[in-house]
Amino acid sequence: MIQRKTEANIRKLRASGAVVGDCLHMLRGLAQEGITLKELDRAAEAFIRGRGAKPTFKGYHGFPASLCLSLNQEVVHGIPNQRRLSAGDILSVDCGATLDDWVGDAAITIMVGKVKPEIAQLVETTHESLLAGIDAAKVGARLGDIGAAIEAVIRRKGFGIVREYCGHGVGRQLHEDPQVPNYGTAGTGPRIASGWCLALEPMVNLGGDAVHTLGDGWTVVTDDKTVSAHWEHSIAITDSGVEILTLCSDGTHP
Ligand code: MG
Ligand code: MG
Repeated sequence: MIQRKTEANIRKLRASGAVVGDCLHMLRGLAQEGITLKELDRAAEAFIRGRGAKPTFKGYHGFPASLCLSLNQEVVHGIPNQRRLSAGDILSVDCGATLDDWVGDAAITIMVGKVKPEIAQLVETTHESLLAGIDAAKVGARLGDIGAAIEAVIRRKGFGIVREYCGHGVGRQLHEDPQVPNYGTAGTGPRIASGWCLALEPMVNLGGDAVHTLGDGWTVVTDDKTVSAHWEHSIAITDSGVEILTLCSDGTHP
């Protein structure tokens, strides 16, 4: 069942979303050559708790950390460990914060130092595809319009689209109905109603679509070992338009 959120609900989601946006912005500054993934995770947990919120991911189905940190060929759900960032790496940082029982969920992909041009293009295209998906999210549009808009941007560049994981409703729970695939056919699927709050999150590979999960039970990697990018925002769709809930407090993108 797809829950429609009230104005008051969306106010709460905006507050938890700002914690996520500000946390990602802080991490972007910190994610330099030499820092360990564990150090980034610790900084995020302290930041989130300092804002009176809880790291949503910690303990979620037993996940052991506050952030999902997915490096290079890792797609999503990477576990922060002692690895250090090097120039040329890309790091996807997925952050969730629960404030007052409402969840914010967003991700950015950070380029560490100078990265290869085709990798920079992957990161930028994935971000562009997210913005195209947000643009297609309108009251009265169909759910398939969002996936189709995301897919069109990615296919134009010939990158691989991860199919096993997708966007989702967001609210009091991290994952609510509906599922929002990063591909689809325009004009199909349920009609979007005012009050839908969704997390859109394209996961895009430099190579093929295929991914698998490592033996740790969490880390998803590309089959062909090419690098992968991930961007995510939580959004609210109402009669007054679409609002990104996971911007920074000052309204900028994290
Ligand atoms: Mg996320
Ligand atoms: Mg999500």
